[in-house]
Amino acid sequence: MSVLIVGSIALDNIKTKLEEHEELLGGSASYASVAASLLTRVNLVGIVGTDFPKQHIELFKSCGINIEGLQIVDGRTFRWSGEYEWDMNQRKTLSVELNVFETFSPNLPESYRKTPIILLGNISPALQQRVLDQVENPRFVVADTMDLWITTTRPELLELIRRVDLLVLNDSEARQLTEETSLIKAGRNILRLGPKYVAIKKGEHGCLLLGDGQFFSCGAFPLEDIHDPTGAGDTFAGGFAGYLAGLNKGSFVFADLKKAVVYGSLLASFCVEAFSLDRIKTLPRKEIEERYRLFRLMSHFEVIE
Ligand code: AMP
Repeated sequence: MSVLIVGSIALDNIKTKLEEHEELLGGSASYASVAASLLTRVNLVGIVGTDFPKQHIELFKSCGINIEGLQIVDGRTFRWSGEYEWDMNQRKTLSVELNVFETFSPNLPESYRKTPIILLGNISPALQQRVLDQVENPRFVVADTMDLWITTTRPELLELIRRVDLLVLNDSEARQLTEETSLIKAGRNILRLGPKYVAIKKGEHGCLLLGDGQFFSCGAFPLEDIHDPTGAGDTFAGGFAGYLAGLNKGSFVFADLKKAVVYGSLLASFCVEAFSLDRIKTLPRKEIEERYRLFRLMSHFEVIE
C-alpha cells in the first residue's frame, strides 16, 4: 500500500552550539517522504522554486518516491532558519521565507487520489484540508501540525482535526492547544476534538499514543550523539505512516498503531544523528531492524528468550 505525503519542501539554515550549515534539504514533506520510503511506496505532493537543487530531486527519485505531484514553479523555494540551545529540545526560529508557498494550491494527480494512507505533513491546515478534499475514501489519515497554526489558524486547525484518524503534535503544542499541563489530560481533550487517536511527541523522552480507552507510552531510543534534531517530528510521522502502509491491511488495530509509533521513533532516532536527511537517505532496512531488536530488548522488563 502506498502513502500520500504533503508538506513543506525547504532549504534550511541550521545552527547548533557546535555546527552551522546552510541551504540544507529540509521541510516536513522531505523528511517524512524519505522516512516513509524506507518502508513503503510514497506519492509526494509539494512545491519548490526553480532554484531547488536538482540533486535533491534526484534524491527523492533514488528513494523510489513518486514525484508526479511535485510542482516546480518560477520563484524561490521555501526557506527556514533555526537555532538550537545546548538543550536540543529548545529551538528558536530565526527566519521563515514562504516564497513559492504563498501561491501553493495542491492539485493531486489522478493517480494519487485513491492512495489509502494519507500523511498531512506540517503545513497550514487550509492546505492540508485542500489535499484531504481530493482523496477518495482513505483508510487512515494522519495529520501533523505546529505551534504556528495553533496560534494563527486555530479554527481551520480544529476543522481539520475533526476529519483525521491520528493527530501528531509535540508536548508543548498539546498543552497550548488544550490549555492543560498534564499530557494525559491534554491527549484526552484532543480526542474529544474528533480524531480517533493522538500521538504526543516528547522529544528525547519518547511519545504517548492515546485512543478511546487505549494508551501506549514509547520511550525514545537512547543516543549518545545528537547532531541535528531538525525533522525528527516529520521523520516520526513519515515512519509511522510508512509502517502502517507497509502492513497492507484493510483496517488497523491499536497494536498496529503501537508498532507504527515504535518504527516512527526509531527512524527519528536515525534522523537526528546527522544534519538534514544525511543519515536516513541511504539507511538500509537491516539497520532499522537491528535497532528495532535492540530497542525491544531495552524496553522489555521481563525475560525474553
Ligand atoms: P521538525 O523539526 O520536525 O519540527 O521539522 C523541521 C522542518 O520543518 C524544517 O526542515 C523546516 O523547513 C520545516 N518548517 C519550519 N517551519 C515551517 C512552517 N511554518 N511550515 C512548514 N514547514 C516548516
